[in-house]
Amino acid sequence: MKNAKEWVKGAAFAAVVIALGIFAHIDTSSKVIDSDYLSFMGNVDSGNVSAVTLTDGEKIMFTLRDDTAAYRTDNPRTEHFKETLLNHSIAVSESNNGNILQLLVSIAFFTVAFLIARKAIGKGGGAAMALNPQNRQEAENTDFSRVAGNEEVKDSVKDIVGFIKNPEKYLKLGARMPRGIIFYGPPGTGKTLMARAIAGEAGVPFYALSGSDFVQMYVGVGAARIRELFKKARESKKAVIFIDEIDALGKKRGNAAVGGNDEREQTLNALLTEMSGFAGTDGVVVVAATNRLDTLDDALLRPGRFDRQIEISLPDLKSRENILEVHSKNKPLDDIDLHKLAKSTVYFSGAMLENLLNEAAIMAANRESATITDSDIDHAFYTVIAGSEKKDRSSLREKDRRITAFHEAGHALLAKTLSPENTVSKITIIPSTKGAGGFCVNIPPDKMYMTKQELKVSVMINYAGRAAEELIFGEDDITTGASSDIESATKTVRDFVTRYGMGRFGLLNMELIKDDKAIATESIEIAQTLYDKTKDIIRQNLDKLNSIANALLERETLNEDELDEVIFQKNACA
Ligand code: ADP
Ligand code: ZN
Repeated sequence: MKNAKEWVKGAAFAAVVIALGIFAHIDTSSKVIDSDYLSFMGNVDSGNVSAVTLTDGEKIMFTLRDDTAAYRTDNPRTEHFKETLLNHSIAVSESNNGNILQLLVSIAFFTVAFLIARKAIGKGGGAAMALNPQNRQEAENTDFSRVAGNEEVKDSVKDIVGFIKNPEKYLKLGARMPRGIIFYGPPGTGKTLMARAIAGEAGVPFYALSGSDFVQMYVGVGAARIRELFKKARESKKAVIFIDEIDALGKKRGNAAVGGNDEREQTLNALLTEMSGFAGTDGVVVVAATNRLDTLDDALLRPGRFDRQIEISLPDLKSRENILEVHSKNKPLDDIDLHKLAKSTVYFSGAMLENLLNEAAIMAANRESATITDSDIDHAFYTVIAGSEKKDRSSLREKDRRITAFHEAGHALLAKTLSPENTVSKITIIPSTKGAGGFCVNIPPDKMYMTKQELKVSVMINYAGRAAEELIFGEDDITTGASSDIESATKTVRDFVTRYGMGRFGLLNMELIKDDKAIATESIEIAQTLYDKTKDIIRQNLDKLNSIANALLERETLNEDELDEVIFQKNACA
């Protein structure tokens, strides 16, 4: 039965791939002639273009007055593009009625446009936002109750809501509130939703635009738009300004930047200028979203700019169940076990879960049913997986989950055994933007110094992920998952030897003595000893390691209490 399901899933996926392949094939082998945008505009200006077919995709199609070929050029996606064309007496259509080839191509375009539109609609009002980026939107009916899970994120933006409502309260105490917050994390995890909820909670208007709206615009237009947006927001005194895909504007400046970046830079500068121009009394807050924080220009992250960065990760089991609950409220479910459904949707984002229920509702409606059944959900499952960008994530191998579980369990075990005074606030096998799993030890903030022993312990906690992998899966099956652990351990060991006078060189700063070979030899020895010790400790506590890892495989995320419970229970039985 399970195999049959797998097979259907595989077949559905293959069908999508083949279909896409056919479209791609038509796309490249057809007699559509690619034209660069400048010569297209040249043809527009000289009146040679007879018709243009607009799409939501990367490309638009056009025909010339003096031949029958179909041409294709980049879609500029600017606001007044259609008007410009009409002013040149060009026939503009949004659907194509030319020859069969063109028809096929436009089906391909239509598919792309449909997918984009569906994605945008899934974003809750995103479609309107893209069409009219400066549109003021009311967020009244979106508050924190619409955002399921993400409790930590809600906690960390509560003060922002308070500040927007009553800036004076904070100013009286001399508090400098962040002007900008960045939400970062995978697509569909509710970043937009959360930004909207902040506006909703505070009862202020929500102004939104997307960084990608500025791609391929003429120099100066983006900056003007930004200024206009801020002007409008300021007119309403209090507001949340939301900038989606901020990375499209504020990517790290590469050294290979040869021209073409003027527009982006001007827009970015306009944004930064506007942000620093806020009076402290304004209840205006800028929220930006990106999938990846590490690609952002540092200028954006400086104090007084987007100085609060909050990660929004994929939902864990409990959050998935909550999200499913929120989105099934208005849907008549026929005895569907949401807990079970949450379990079978590992690595689904909130958007995918919403989509799953929606597709299931459509299936139920199509078969004239009054309720949504398990089989509707099953069918919807394939649609959602095939339509998602990151197919690989959903089918991430069970083996990877096991490796991550034992790796993270190793960290947690060592932290719990060796440094009970530190709190392990959270441990999870849900991938984050930083890497495979997640593990947080909070070292007490009131600590001024670290002792020699504490330094060693922190290295051992770092090594414990790899040590657990090696002991459970064998020396040949260790993975690349430990690379950032190794990096931070290396820094600690090096400092131990070179700066803190704790190695065998005595009280010398080895960075000044500059004997790299000696430093390396000493570091290697220390690292080896600490790694061996780490493995010993894990070996002596294999039962605990197993129960932590199994709890992780079962529940995906454990908080401190749950972790203690798992370790404690095992103690009681042993
Ligand atoms: P992002 O901005 O991170 O790409 P969105 O905020 O656009 O994600 O999420 C898209 C949709 O997915 C939302 O409108 C909502 O329907 C659903 N969704 C995502 N995360 C959540 C969540 N935590 N709770 C409830 N719904 C969610
Ligand atoms: Zn690790």
